[in-house]
Amino acid sequence: MTVLNSTLSERKKENTCYDKTLPAGEGWIYTLDPGQVLRIVDVKGNQAADTLFFDADNLANHYSAINTIQCAGNIYLTTGSVLVAESGKELVKIVADTCGRHDTLGGACSAQSNTVRYSHETLPMHNCRDTFMLLLAKHDSQFTKRDLAPNINFFMNVPVTPDGGLTFEDGVSAPGSYVEMQAVNKTLVVISNCPQLNNPCNDYNPTPIQVLIWDK
Ligand SMILES: [Zn+2]
Repeated sequence: MTVLNSTLSERKKENTCYDKTLPAGEGWIYTLDPGQVLRIVDVKGNQAADTLFFDADNLANHYSAINTIQCAGNIYLTTGSVLVAESGKELVKIVADTCGRHDTLGGACSAQSNTVRYSHETLPMHNCRDTFMLLLAKHDSQFTKRDLAPNINFFMNVPVTPDGGLTFEDGVSAPGSYVEMQAVNKTLVVISNCPQLNNPCNDYNPTPIQVLIWDK
């Protein structure tokens, strides 16, 4: 395992202001203040943490995959990548990453995509878009399905093939891998700890993640 930012990787666990373990399939919603650092830990490895970001000062201004990819000059995110909103406003910056690569293209699983990719029998299965919508609707009644913008899949391995296709592969992450991001501006973070049972991104076995927050 490569620690890409050794200074920040040494954050003291006792100094956290928040520490929660999310079982597979559970969601999480939280507003980060500027300067706060969020760490997501892939506790057992090979898990996918589907994550949405919104400008907390203007919830209509969501994370933009296109702006972020343009700023990063890369479709994969790692230390140094800045996650940018539709308006161009910077939301959070990745400040440490022991996994090394996070997906911007694969999107979140849904009842519809499950039936297309796998079989019609998967229609009632728990999926990330339903988790996102439930959390957002509880948070603020202004949210609708139109706010389910493209998301980031932390720890997920979605390589682009030479002919331009996407494949879902076994994860590049390992037990204990983590990614840390520091809020540049006040940012609403919504995570669906993916319950997917039908593809190898999480080894067909969804597992817990841990979320930790430091004040600086
Ligand atoms: Zn999912």
